[in-house]
Amino acid sequence: VRAASALVVLLTACATTGDPQRDLTALRAESDDSYVLAASLVTEVGPRFAGSEGDARAVQWALRKFTELGFQNVRAEPVTVPHWERGDIRVEIRAPGHHRLAALALGGSVPTPRRGITAQVVAVSSLEDLQKLPDAQVKGRIVYFNGRTERTRDGSGYVKAVPARRTGPADAARKGARAVLIRSIGTDARAAHTGTTKYEDAPKIPAAALAPPDADLLERLLGNGPVRVHLAIASRDAGEAQSANVIGEIPGETPEIVLLGAHLDSWDITPGANDDAAGVGVVMAAALRVAALGKPRRTIRVVLYANEEFGVSGGKAYAQAHADEIGRHVLVMEADSGSGAAWRLHANVADADWPLVAQLAGQLQLELGANGKEGGTDVEPLCKLGVPELFAMQDGSAYFDVHHTADDTVAALDRAGLAQVTGVFAVLAHEASERGAGFGRLPAAK
Ligand SMILES: [Zn+2]
Repeated sequence: VRAASALVVLLTACATTGDPQRDLTALRAESDDSYVLAASLVTEVGPRFAGSEGDARAVQWALRKFTELGFQNVRAEPVTVPHWERGDIRVEIRAPGHHRLAALALGGSVPTPRRGITAQVVAVSSLEDLQKLPDAQVKGRIVYFNGRTERTRDGSGYVKAVPARRTGPADAARKGARAVLIRSIGTDARAAHTGTTKYEDAPKIPAAALAPPDADLLERLLGNGPVRVHLAIASRDAGEAQSANVIGEIPGETPEIVLLGAHLDSWDITPGANDDAAGVGVVMAAALRVAALGKPRRTIRVVLYANEEFGVSGGKAYAQAHADEIGRHVLVMEADSGSGAAWRLHANVADADWPLVAQLAGQLQLELGANGKEGGTDVEPLCKLGVPELFAMQDGSAYFDVHHTADDTVAALDRAGLAQVTGVFAVLAHEASERGAGFGRLPAAK
C-alpha cells in the first residue's frame, strides 16, 4: 500500500491530524526532565534487584511518580520473579604470594562449599579456546576466561565478550571444571561487573567475575607459571518472589497503543543509574512531552518492567497478560542502553514501512540502521507477536565502564546525552501516535 502514501501522511502528520498550533520543537527541548527522574529513582530507592526490598520500594516509587506527574490508569501488574542472594565472596591468589582480588559472583551462581574451593587456574580466551583443551587439563581446575571487552559505540564489544559470562561456566562444568572466573565483561572500572550466567543442563559450578585490574594481576602471574586460587561464594537461591510491572498512560482518542518501555529493576550491587534508571527517566519524560502538546491520537502507554536483569520476567509477563490486546499495539520502543546520545535508528518493521524509518532517521539526524536486526529485551515478546518496533541505538562507548558495577551512579549519567535521547523518544512516540496509518504489522514469529 502504503510506503509512498504513508510517507506523505507522515510528512503532513501535524497539519492533518494534529493541532496546527502544536509547537513540535518542544518535543526536543533542552531539558533535564529525564535526568531528574533518573536521579530521583537512584536517590530515593537505590539498588532494586528483583524480589528484594529495594525492588518493592521501586514499585512504590513508580506508582507515586506516575500519579504525581498526571499519568492516567496507573497500576501495578503482578509479576512473579526468581530471587537470588549473592552473599559474601572471597577470591584470593594463594600461590605464588597472597593477593585478595576484587570480584563479584555472577548472577545466579551457586555457592561454593563453606570452606571454599582452592585449585590451580587454567586460562582460556574464549568458549572455542576452552573446547580445544583436553578435558584432563580442565578437570578439577578453576577455568579463567581472559577475554577483553572492546570499547565500541554500538555495543558490539560487549555482545562479543558476553558469551564467556552467559555460558562459560556451563561449558567449563561439562569438561569437569570446579569453578569459573572471568575477566569482567566491561571496559574500565576498579569495580567488578556482575550479570547472569546460565547453567542450562550442565553441572552447576560457582562462577565470579574479577575486576579488570585484578584480572590483570592474575594474568601477569599466569605468565610466570602455575597459579592457585581460592574461591568462596556464599550465594543462595531464594526461590520466587513477587514484583510488578508498573504502568502509566497518556490516554489517546483511539484504542490503539504506542508502548514505551524501560526496566525498573537493577542488579543488587549497583544503584543502576544508567541501567536502567536512565531509561525509566527517558520514557516517562518523553511521554510527558507528547502529553504537553495535547491529547494524543493513540494512547501512550509507559511500562516499567519488573526483573529484566535476572530473566526478563516482566517482559514475558506483560505479553501474556495483554495477549488479548496485542493487536492494539501499533509500535513499541524500549530505553535500556544507558544515557549516551542516540546516533542510529534500527527497526523491526514490515518492509513497506522501511522508507518511513529512513524518513524519521533523517528528520532526527540519526544514521539509518538495519531492519529486523536488534531490539529491546523486554519488548521482544511483543515483537515476536508482530508488533513493530523502533530502536534508537545510543552511544555505548562509555556505558560498559559502569554497566552492572557499583560505579553506575548518578555521576556516571550523561546529562546532554539523556536530553537528546528523550527528544528522540518524544518525536518518535509523537509520530507513532499521530500518524494517520499506523505501522504495518510484522508476520508473527513461529
Ligand atoms: Zn538494563
